[in-house]
Amino acid sequence: MRRSWLVIALLWSLAAGVWGAEDELRIGVLSHRGDEATLRNWTPTADYLSREVPEYHFVIVPLDFDEIEPAVRNRRVDFLLVNPGIYVNMEVRYRITRIATLNNLLNDRPLNIFGGVIFTRADSPIRSLEAVRGTRFMAVDRTSLGGFQMAWQVLAEKGIDPNRDTRLSFGGTHDAVVRAVLEGEADVGTVRTGILEALSLEDHRPLKEVRILGERWSARYPFHHSTPLYPEWPFSKLPHVPNTLARRVAIALLRMSPLEPAAQWGDYAGWTIPLEYQPVHELLQRLHLPPYDQPERFTLEDAVRKYWYWLLTLAVFLLALAVMTTWVARLNRALERSRRLLERQHNLILDSVADGIYGVDLEGRTTFFNKAAETITGWKPEDLVGTNQHEKLHHTRPDGTPYPAEECPIYRTFHEGRPRYVEEDIFWRKDGTSFPVEYSSTPLRDEAGRILGSVVVFRDISKRKQADEAARQHQLELAHMARLSTLGEMASGMAHELNQPLTAIATNADACIRLLENDACARERIFEVLETIGAQARRAGEIIQQLRQFVRKEEPRVSAVDLNQLVKEVLVLVRPELGRAGVQLELDLAEALPPVEVQRIQIDQVILNLVRNALEAMLDPRVNQRRLSVRTRPAGGHAVTVEVEDSGPGLPPEVRDKLFDPFVTTKPQGMGLGLSISKGIIEAHKGRLYCEETESGTLFRFVLPLDAHDH
Ligand code: ADP
Repeated sequence: MRRSWLVIALLWSLAAGVWGAEDELRIGVLSHRGDEATLRNWTPTADYLSREVPEYHFVIVPLDFDEIEPAVRNRRVDFLLVNPGIYVNMEVRYRITRIATLNNLLNDRPLNIFGGVIFTRADSPIRSLEAVRGTRFMAVDRTSLGGFQMAWQVLAEKGIDPNRDTRLSFGGTHDAVVRAVLEGEADVGTVRTGILEALSLEDHRPLKEVRILGERWSARYPFHHSTPLYPEWPFSKLPHVPNTLARRVAIALLRMSPLEPAAQWGDYAGWTIPLEYQPVHELLQRLHLPPYDQPERFTLEDAVRKYWYWLLTLAVFLLALAVMTTWVARLNRALERSRRLLERQHNLILDSVADGIYGVDLEGRTTFFNKAAETITGWKPEDLVGTNQHEKLHHTRPDGTPYPAEECPIYRTFHEGRPRYVEEDIFWRKDGTSFPVEYSSTPLRDEAGRILGSVVVFRDISKRKQADEAARQHQLELAHMARLSTLGEMASGMAHELNQPLTAIATNADACIRLLENDACARERIFEVLETIGAQARRAGEIIQQLRQFVRKEEPRVSAVDLNQLVKEVLVLVRPELGRAGVQLELDLAEALPPVEVQRIQIDQVILNLVRNALEAMLDPRVNQRRLSVRTRPAGGHAVTVEVEDSGPGLPPEVRDKLFDPFVTTKPQGMGLGLSISKGIIEAHKGRLYCEETESGTLFRFVLPLDAHDH
């Protein structure tokens, strides 16, 4: 009989495949009593739906407990007819929706609720639920709601966990459980309500031979039960089934008459609107069964047990972090200490330098200011740091005119990017006075070579300037003294030289008188004599004039001088001496000699010195021919050369190497200052004086640049 049903069902499915597989709708049915029974019981229901919703062909897919979840997950079915426990699971996990609840027909009674019954053999000593502890307890399946879970919940309320406190086994089907208990293979069994009654209809045995444990009574429920009652199996749709189709299926089910063959074959009374399955949720929650199988309260212990490796990693990481942080903090402190030390050393070095040092940034603001700078200028670092250095230190030139910041060499240093050295300038003190300085300004660069500003190193040169001035004065005094001394030496010659014109004047004046006494008509002759008198007087006057000029003590004054003229004037003073010594004078003065800017009296003195030295050298008795040459020459358009050459015996060997040193002399009356003073004078005019020994004697030459402004 069963086999033939299976064949019919298979033929149906085959036919459906031929007619149009795309319209097939598959109803997964929990086959807790075997596939054959499932197909037999439910295929008529599928046929009924195929008739009512003719666009589709409905087929039954029997699924045992383990096949349900994969079938839903993989959408191998479109509708599901399973027990409420499995339904709740699938609802939570795959969002399936119930569309109707089965109105079961048990012993001719339509019922849409059901429960579980716990029983033992009537002759068993087990009489209460409490006594179930320790017995061989058989249920249908671990996932069976009426066949296990409802009983478990009831036992749990009594403090018995069937998994732990009984020798639990599963019979697979309801019938098997009943059989096992009746045959003594199990002490206690549990099946869904109505099973015992149904089996009793067949051979009357079970109900008589069993004892119901923990029986409950409900007014409108006709069957033995040991548990609360729960809604019957729901008919549900999977999420991919459109609502319109689901609605048509639901309507068809609700409209099904109990007389319908489908209901008859399925042994049910029809379908009702879907019931509330919340009590099933609560039952599963209480038993921590799927989908509520996660621990209710997630304790710290659970967390540690579950995530211990993460926690360990975290702890190791935190420890490493703490060690690193401590290490970095210590390193930072050490760095800070050495930074402070370096800063102190740096300041110490800066402050122990005698020169003033300060820094300037690109905006011209002072960045630091050392101790010496503070002492020299009177400005305190707090007066200057952060303010414009030029406006405080450098605002006015020595002549009192304002000094524009753009021209400040310190600014130019970092604009041009090269160091500068300024030999002489002035800086202003805080008290408004100024002082002469020399300074250098060096650009300050970072590692990349970018200019950050400059460092200025300056020195107060007041003392050096004073010393220079004193030396200059001393030089002047010395030169003056030398001139007086020269004059002393020349005095007798001068007297003679002056004597000559004066004698001539006197003689000529006498001659005039005589001419006037003797011959009144000698007018023309008298004129001549008077002219001679005048000329001689002028000559004497000239000599006296030169003498006066030569010994004058005057402040240095530069003027444009014609050196030819100067040579001639000097020779006026020595000519008598030259004459007496029988010196032959050769003057070779260049024509159109450009004038030079010099201090006239000083160059006078040099020429006189050289000429007198030449003369004195030639007084040596070994000298036969006394010849003095004085020459002037333009030198390359930018200088003038003067040469004084004698035919003397040459330089005495003992003075040759130190000719220009002071107090070097071979003369008994000599002071040894002439050449050293002369050299000083020529060099002060930025010229050069040197000596050569020639074939005939000695040559002294000096060269003066045309634009040699004094000092
Ligand atoms: P002073 O004439 O007082 O000795 P100078 O400095 O003028 O001092 O000269 C130093 C010395 O150089 C002289 O004593 C002399 O020995 C030597 N000297 C200078 N000019 C000549 C010269 N034209 N020929 C030889 N010796 C010279």
